[in-house]
Amino acid sequence: MPRFKSKEIITAYRWFQNGDHPDDGSIMIEPKKDNVDQFKSFLSEGKVVRRYRIPGIEFHICEQYPVCEQCNKRMNVHGWIEDEICNKSMGKSGWVVCPGDYIITMDNGKYVVRSKDYMDKHYIDIDTLRDLKEIENF
Ligand SMILES: [Zn+2]
Repeated sequence: MPRFKSKEIITAYRWFQNGDHPDDGSIMIEPKKDNVDQFKSFLSEGKVVRRYRIPGIEFHICEQYPVCEQCNKRMNVHGWIEDEICNKSMGKSGWVVCPGDYIITMDNGKYVVRSKDYMDKHYIDIDTLRDLKEIENF
């Protein structure tokens, strides 16, 4: 069986909610005084991680969203990264992002979503190392 070990350094951002990815470009939308259908400010949808939507259900009506099989949280607190190629075999055209997942930016500019458990198993956060020997022992 061919085996590989990587020493690549990747950039990964942890995502918990809309606007967390630095390339999301989310801005606060304030209600205008004469607006009759927006009374509270809200953060615009991320450009990288969009809101996970189910057609016909408003995302703020959380009790209508199913519970995620991966993290047991309602799907309305999840994100979605559009990607035509990933998960094509499963009939999906993107990545579901659970709160707490990591988003890795690939060399080709595409994104890959990985769980915290996966990241803990395969990567070490080099910004938090006290000693470079920790990398050698990883
Ligand atoms: Zn989830």
